[in-house]
Amino acid sequence: MRQLIAGNWKMNGSLAMATGLANALRAATTDGTLAGGALACDLLVCPPANLVAVAAQALLGSAVAVGGQDCHAKASGAHTGDIAAAMLRDCGATHVIVGHSERRADHGESDVQVCAKVVAAVAAGLVPIVCVGETEAQRLGGQAEAVVAGQLVGSLPEGFAGVVAYEPVWAIGTGRTPTEADVAAMHAHIRAVLVGRLGPAGAGLRILYGGSVKPSNAAALMALPEVGGALVGGASLVAEDFLGIARACRG
Ligand code: PEP
Repeated sequence: MRQLIAGNWKMNGSLAMATGLANALRAATTDGTLAGGALACDLLVCPPANLVAVAAQALLGSAVAVGGQDCHAKASGAHTGDIAAAMLRDCGATHVIVGHSERRADHGESDVQVCAKVVAAVAAGLVPIVCVGETEAQRLGGQAEAVVAGQLVGSLPEGFAGVVAYEPVWAIGTGRTPTEADVAAMHAHIRAVLVGRLGPAGAGLRILYGGSVKPSNAAALMALPEVGGALVGGASLVAEDFLGIARACRG
């Protein structure tokens, strides 16, 4: 399965930064400086909502897709400050992250709400990237697999056909990562849950790893079985780092 490297810019950026970063990615994926000419993976950047259109315009026709970081479960209406999935699509997005741990923590998003957002994203023609992952206390308490299974069952609607991102909360932005054995074990567990819930279709879904991925650890992480790519936060803000992670893909 071709891997996906998705950048989550979070609440960072400006018009100038988005244009510069998008142009750098466009140039690197067009002139062959990435991986000796052939892109070995799919690339996606997810800027904050105000920069989706400018990034999509800059990357139009390139190998780099654009996504949102969240969407509302409703198609439109009185939801001040929110953005609908169709609005992201209208701006040129093809994907949307839902259920990121920062949304779950900062906005109290439940699995039920995440599931409704997934349904809305799909209805608008977006590919949802659904984030799951345990806290450090849950891992230390031996609950990581049960927590992740519960999030998957609660967040994925019937017939789910998007992407899952495993992001241990304690690894996000900390410079810490699980051991390769722990990543492999959790991805195998997620695959089993997906197949149990979705049948054979669950075997073909990408499961991304996220949490302090950088060029120096990407090759080892991307080589693990059932790792279908990476969701990258901090390192996605620097073109050379993001491209360095893309170069580490196994193809
Ligand atoms: C993220 O927020 O999705 C993430 C993985 O962040 P970082 O790469 O900075 O740990």
